Amino acid sequence: MVLGKDDMFDTFLSQRGHRTESERVGWEKDYNKKQCPECGGLHDSSATECSVCGWTPYEPS
Ligand SMILES: [Zn+2]
Repeated sequence: MVLGKDDMFDTFLSQRGHRTESERVGWEKDYNKKQCPECGGLHDSSATECSVCGWTPYEPS
């Protein structure tokens, strides 16, 4: 299932200069929201995992 391929997401990428996708281990920041780097889903800043695709950020302990 592919989500987040809408115009808003394309605009978001182009504004960022479409960085090279390498090892992205943290949330993308979008205003006061967190954005999942995997599916582009937006979540509250309190989110600890993506409720859309189940992605979780890598957190070194
Ligand atoms: Zn996700």
